Amino acid sequence: MPQARHRNCVMHMWKNFINRFKDLYIKEVVWEYARCTTVAKFKNCMERLKAVNQRAWEYLSKFEQETWVKAYFSHGPKVDNLTNNMCEMFNAKIINYRSKPILTMCEEIRCYLMRRMVNHKRVLENHPGKLAPVLQKRMDILVTPSTKWTAEWVGDNERKRFEVSRKGSKVDVDLIKYTCSCNRWQLTGMLCTLALAAIGKRHDKAEDYVLSAAAPNPANVAPAPTRVTRSTLVIAPPGATVTPFRPPAPTTTPPCKAPGKAPSMVNNTSRPKPSKCIPKQKIFRPSAPLVQGQSSTPLVAPAHQEVPQRTTPSDPTSREST
Ligand SMILES: [Zn+2]
Repeated sequence: MPQARHRNCVMHMWKNFINRFKDLYIKEVVWEYARCTTVAKFKNCMERLKAVNQRAWEYLSKFEQETWVKAYFSHGPKVDNLTNNMCEMFNAKIINYRSKPILTMCEEIRCYLMRRMVNHKRVLENHPGKLAPVLQKRMDILVTPSTKWTAEWVGDNERKRFEVSRKGSKVDVDLIKYTCSCNRWQLTGMLCTLALAAIGKRHDKAEDYVLSAAAPNPANVAPAPTRVTRSTLVIAPPGATVTPFRPPAPTTTPPCKAPGKAPSMVNNTSRPKPSKCIPKQKIFRPSAPLVQGQSSTPLVAPAHQEVPQRTTPSDPTSREST
């Protein structure tokens, strides 16, 4: 898996190291260096080893620090194991299933994991505490040493950042980011002695600050979207849009107060000047064709005047009257 972080088993590294170097002085340096939780401490140790045994320093320098030193481990898994004992235990459990056909083996392993989870559920069913019993015991052991450290508030607004000191040693504990300068809190999610001293200063519950791989760090969770207010709301101007062709709307004209003589269109071939009182549409599109000899009717007839009916030459009644 190229994207996965790999780690070496320090137990195997140590066995190879002591087989290669028989010096008793450097026999346990592999374990000591692998347990360093800060980069500065690890580099200091490597410098001391270089001064004592050059070949041993060259041998350990060949390994990538991310694979065997706690200071370089990822903070994501919340596991700082240096050995592969968990893998070996799992292999020992499934050794009876490995000789079976592949589908049967997978089914047996699934049933084994199911039974194991059910047993853990039953054990923890009546457990009153928030933490598991093993973690609770580890934290109870650290409470007494934490009282020897002095936590001092650094002055932040949330009152959750402290400088924990003892005999010249000072570390930074941030209860908002869930970090400690010793790096143990970030590695395992379990509180260290220094973080417990800072939490004790606030009289908070230590269980509320324990992290797990399943529960993400609250400091890394994306913040909720801020409420949109008048000051934060920014409305962009509308972009330029091309509208389809549309004929211009008729202009609103004021009513004609004194309609004079309507313009005659019979003998007037020239285009009349557009009047403000008469729309163009009524000038160029008469409603009925004009008969020769008939005077042009006004476009707007008065209300009290009757419009004369049109007479055609084929009408018989008109011939009799004449
Ligand atoms: Zn710490």
